[in-house]
Amino acid sequence: MAENYNNGDNYGGGGSEGPNRRGGPDGPNRQNKSPKKKQTMIIIIIAAVITLIGSTIMSTLLENATTKEITYNEFLEMIEKDEIEKIKFTTTKIIITPKDSDEGYFKFTYWTTALNDDELLPKLNKTKIEYKGEVTDSQSSIVTFLLEWILPFAFIYFIMAMVFRRIGKGGGMMGGVGKSNAKIYVEKETGVTFRDVAGQEEAKESLKEIVDFLHNPGKYSSIGAKLPKGALLVGPPGTGKTLLAKAVAGEAKVPFFSLSGSDFVEMYVGVGASRVRDLFKQAQQSAPCIIFIDEIDAIGKSRDSKYGGNDEREQTLNQLLSEMDGFDTSKGLLILAATNRPDVLDKALLRPGRFDRRIIVDRPDMKGRVNILKVHSRNVSMDETVDLKKIALATSGAVGSDLANIINEAAINAVKNGRRAISQADLFESVEVVFAGKEKKERILSPKEKKIVAYHEVGHALVAVLEKKSVPVQKITIVPRTMGALGYVMHVPEEEKYLETKDEMLASIVGLMGGRAAEEIVFESVTSGAANDMEKATGLAKNMIARFGMSEKFGLMSLAKVENEYLDGSAHLDCSQETAAELDKEIRELLKKCYDRAKELLQSNRESLDKITEYLCQEETITGKQFMEIFKKLNPDFVEIKNDLAEELEEAVESVNSTEK
Ligand code: ADP
Repeated sequence: MAENYNNGDNYGGGGSEGPNRRGGPDGPNRQNKSPKKKQTMIIIIIAAVITLIGSTIMSTLLENATTKEITYNEFLEMIEKDEIEKIKFTTTKIIITPKDSDEGYFKFTYWTTALNDDELLPKLNKTKIEYKGEVTDSQSSIVTFLLEWILPFAFIYFIMAMVFRRIGKGGGMMGGVGKSNAKIYVEKETGVTFRDVAGQEEAKESLKEIVDFLHNPGKYSSIGAKLPKGALLVGPPGTGKTLLAKAVAGEAKVPFFSLSGSDFVEMYVGVGASRVRDLFKQAQQSAPCIIFIDEIDAIGKSRDSKYGGNDEREQTLNQLLSEMDGFDTSKGLLILAATNRPDVLDKALLRPGRFDRRIIVDRPDMKGRVNILKVHSRNVSMDETVDLKKIALATSGAVGSDLANIINEAAINAVKNGRRAISQADLFESVEVVFAGKEKKERILSPKEKKIVAYHEVGHALVAVLEKKSVPVQKITIVPRTMGALGYVMHVPEEEKYLETKDEMLASIVGLMGGRAAEEIVFESVTSGAANDMEKATGLAKNMIARFGMSEKFGLMSLAKVENEYLDGSAHLDCSQETAAELDKEIRELLKKCYDRAKELLQSNRESLDKITEYLCQEETITGKQFMEIFKKLNPDFVEIKNDLAEELEEAVESVNSTEK
């Protein structure tokens, strides 16, 4: 239920899919030949066939309307009575035009089935009836031919072509199997430069060197230096790895080939390897250029059995390794790859001469976030209230794509409200939209539920105030958000922190327990709403004991290892089963202690809990200031620690609230 905004973990893994993930506004050029010509041809053929069939059907209909079937007897009778003008024999029919057959515009005819009648011709020769034969039913012959011969073949061809295209992903009928050109994106000019990437100064430094290699390969090779073949960009999703790779291409003014590791992986064995071959062939023709393989872990997973073997993937990886060894660096071909799971990569990929440079593209720090916000607000009008530093402080843990999104949401919000520039309040509002979703005003909670949520959120906030002795929150709300929270408390830290003390971590756990504790005290029952709190509290407790050496029982021993530090950062136990069981017990005890502490704090401040909750139920969203006013009236002795940013934030929240009303 509660979203704790000062906890970087909340942002984990957010926003990997940036809006400009691939291709910019100018769009990537697919390597396929333009299919336009082909399309026009197909349309012409279809139109011709439709016209032909249509006209034949029309004439058949007309014929049916003006032709009547008669019996053979009647036909013979007509001959006797001399009522016939002329006769036409086809293979199956006898078509009879009677005398006086004009019925308005159309000629009226009869027909009857041709029988094996030897006497018919001598009979006709005795009369003046004109007769002639025709080999087939000319009207339907083309249609019959089309239906019986061309159409089935066309259909089979169409199906086969589709199947082969699926297998080969491009190319013609058979020759295209394994061609990679359907998925490679090539940009002649990415148009991105290092100026567009902020907050990744170290990464930029290392890559600038590489740009120089591409510019002047001769300078390095002349003194015998080997040029690097590839660099691996490592970091969480959304931190700007793709952007950096594009910037390298943009700075070096060389073409940019990009594709994702998963594009190589196919159901059919051997296709991935042939795609790799094809990619390198194409790239070498356009050298100097940059190949960017996103999410290389999809093919580069370690070949040992730990992560599950896969023949196709291994073949693809082997091909990649041999291509990397094979190409000539002096041509200026550079391979950049990105991953957020460096730990699973095959060691052979990281060997010197392959991806020997590892460039860390981590979550930006405070200064980095300010710079990223600046980059993205370059073309956005902002009024004088905007202070990007404060936004950066409020978004600890956010990655570049989150920040880009925040500026964009704020701009949309300003336009929606008819303003020409974005304000600080817009920005704070969009911080919430990006991390908690939009307000879901149509979701109506029952009065009982609303009360439970309100107690839960005030429980969090009150415990935080009492434990941390500072204004804990900028905003408490029980308006549900689209990303699932029924209510939440927004925290902003006073400053960016890289280290947390044991006491601070304990206080955080107590704060997380505040919601559940309030529910239990007031309603004597608990709800499902605390799941997220429990998860976070357990994670924190586990880290304290198993990784940070903060428990007396286990002392300074590390019992867990983080395997995917760039994704959710969750730790996996690395100890015996007995120790794991003891560890669980220790975690449970720590959590219980924190829960009891939260309960104790709330019980001794029951009046504040009730009064503030009542007010929250009435208002739905309150600021930290309003919270503190009520709290201080009831606890006049309480001395808080000042937090300038918190006050500023509250003003922003207030101004958003007042414009909404
Ligand atoms: P990744 O490849 O690491 O998942 P992207 O490079 O695709 O991330 O980033 C997505 C979008 O987020 C970018 O197009 C850009 O708009 C924004 N972005 C991410 N990191 C940065 C950064 N360091 N500086 C500026 N913009 C960034």
